[in-house]
Amino acid sequence: MKLYQDKKNCCGCGACGDICPVSAIRMTPDGEGFRYPQVDGAVCIRCGRCEAVCPMGRGETFADNQYFGAWVREEDARRASSSGGVFPVLAGYVLRRQGVVFGAAFGEGMEVSHQEAQNPAQLELLKTTKYVQSRMDGVYRRIAAVLKEGKWVLFCGMPCQAHALRRFLGRPWPTLITADLVCYGVPSPGIWGDYVKLLEHRHKGRLTAFSFRDKRAGDSGHTRAYVCGGKEYTTRLSADPYCGMFFGNFIIRPACHACRYCTVDRGSDFTLGDFWGIEKVRPEADDGMGNSLVILHTERAREIWGEIQAELGWFACEKEEILQPRLTGPTPAAKGRGVFMALRRTLPAGALFVLFERSRTIMGLLRR
Ligand SMILES: Cc1cc2nc3c(=O)[nH]c(=O)nc-3n(C[C@H](O)[C@H](O)[C@H](O)COP(=O)(O)OP(=O)(O)OC[C@H]3O[C@@H](n4cnc5c(N)ncnc54)[C@H](O)[C@@H]3O)c2cc1C
Ligand code: SF4
Ligand code: SF4
Ligand code: SF4
Repeated sequence: MKLYQDKKNCCGCGACGDICPVSAIRMTPDGEGFRYPQVDGAVCIRCGRCEAVCPMGRGETFADNQYFGAWVREEDARRASSSGGVFPVLAGYVLRRQGVVFGAAFGEGMEVSHQEAQNPAQLELLKTTKYVQSRMDGVYRRIAAVLKEGKWVLFCGMPCQAHALRRFLGRPWPTLITADLVCYGVPSPGIWGDYVKLLEHRHKGRLTAFSFRDKRAGDSGHTRAYVCGGKEYTTRLSADPYCGMFFGNFIIRPACHACRYCTVDRGSDFTLGDFWGIEKVRPEADDGMGNSLVILHTERAREIWGEIQAELGWFACEKEEILQPRLTGPTPAAKGRGVFMALRRTLPAGALFVLFERSRTIMGLLRR
């Protein structure tokens, strides 16, 4: 049995694997390094739950939206986050209620997966944007178990993951808050793994930290910084080859190029993103430390917003003022994405990065 006909119809949320009662589904990487569900026909009992949970092509009901620009007032908290730091403020709201926060973190070998935080120290790992598709194995089941204990849960992730979670749970939960992100698309975890190996080989040491959006230069997070072999390396985000492949649209999941969550209407309580263009809308708030775009979708979100507002600088705005490309349509694939991925399948791991770094002109042509 195949759960999708075309790769653009599987976002890799992993909810099918979590819901399967006999563990017949494994998320397995393809030649591009993205995980897809593989069903073991010998184990499958044909219950149909995997097909029923899938969020792809399934609608949700949308309520009235309200639009805001915002940033956390506490300076260290803002510096530690990628945009204006609204996520940690929402997380604090849940932790104060002895709840559990789920978000993406680096783990063993710098793999990115959703993990849980029950205290401020654990929350540190969930902060900041990781430009890698996050693994969700076991997360849907774990959230269901925490909710059944009567605890508060904040889930923050991609809109497709948040939608998959709501489908997995099957009904609204009074103590569940979902926050989804404005989403450019997710890059390949396999190619990220190749990059980690390359950096460790080059610097002869372990990669222990990677910030895709370092703000120390006060440039709204357009710097990338990492620590490898105990030494720190920083450069402009655009000069990093992995980020160049991502924003050159070579290594994004096929489903992302046909994504229907690239709109302001979502089924989550909150949508969070970067307030790009704030210099035009509120120039006085543009201090180079990053600002969040916040969309409130539900009554619950409006209630929570009222309770956390004192921790934030904020202003209300119109829909037209917050619109950015990823709220009006999906990221188009690079014209040469197929050629690029064919090279990835053929070349030894790491060689793709060397080629990318040395042939930026050719890559520029492939992008068009
Ligand atoms: C791949 C990707 C693409 C993005 N594209 C855009 C975009 O085009 N436009 C835009 O305005 N914003 C985009 N964002 C969102 C933005 O970068 C910030 O994550 C968001 O504004 C929240 O920032 P913050 O300061 O409130 O919180 P932060 O403290 O920075 O927290 C970030 C939150 O994002 C979650 N997160 C981080 N990485 C991942 C991941 N790989 N998968 C799922 N969840 C993750 C964390 O769990 C955490 O909850 C993107 C984020 C990612 C991960
Ligand atoms: S049909 Fe049921 S048993 Fe078979 S893979 Fe799907 S969820 Fe598992
Ligand atoms: S549930 Fe998620 S991982 Fe499974 S087939 Fe659907 S989109 Fe793909
Ligand atoms: S672009 Fe769409 S399909 Fe891709 S990760 Fe984001 S929400 Fe999911």
